[in-house]
Amino acid sequence: MKTTSIKRALSALAASAMIVASIPAMASSAARNCRHNFNGSYTIVRQATCTQTGLKEGRCTKCGDVVSRVTIPKNKNNHNYKRVPGSKVHRSPDGRQWMYVQCACGSRTLICVG
Ligand SMILES: [Zn+2]
Ligand SMILES: [Zn+2]
Repeated sequence: MKTTSIKRALSALAASAMIVASIPAMASSAARNCRHNFNGSYTIVRQATCTQTGLKEGRCTKCGDVVSRVTIPKNKNNHNYKRVPGSKVHRSPDGRQWMYVQCACGSRTLICVG
């Protein structure tokens, strides 16, 4: 009994997967016939950080295809700080606690931890 219901569920799943798989194929054939229209607005795919360039994409307003890709220069002010293992907690005169964090680029800063 149980096996049959699983089999039935699986075949239903396979059928729906086939429908989903056929959609991108249709979209790409539509894109091939599209005379792309780009309105100049970009979407940021990846933010630039101090160690890595970013990426932005401009898409066709009609078919959604990527028509322009622009690399964003590294941003030396966008650090990805992580706690330094074994770093001590420093206490300021007002009782707040601070800890050093460090980025892959070597930049360090103090953050308030309590
Ligand atoms: Zn297009
Ligand atoms: Zn950094």
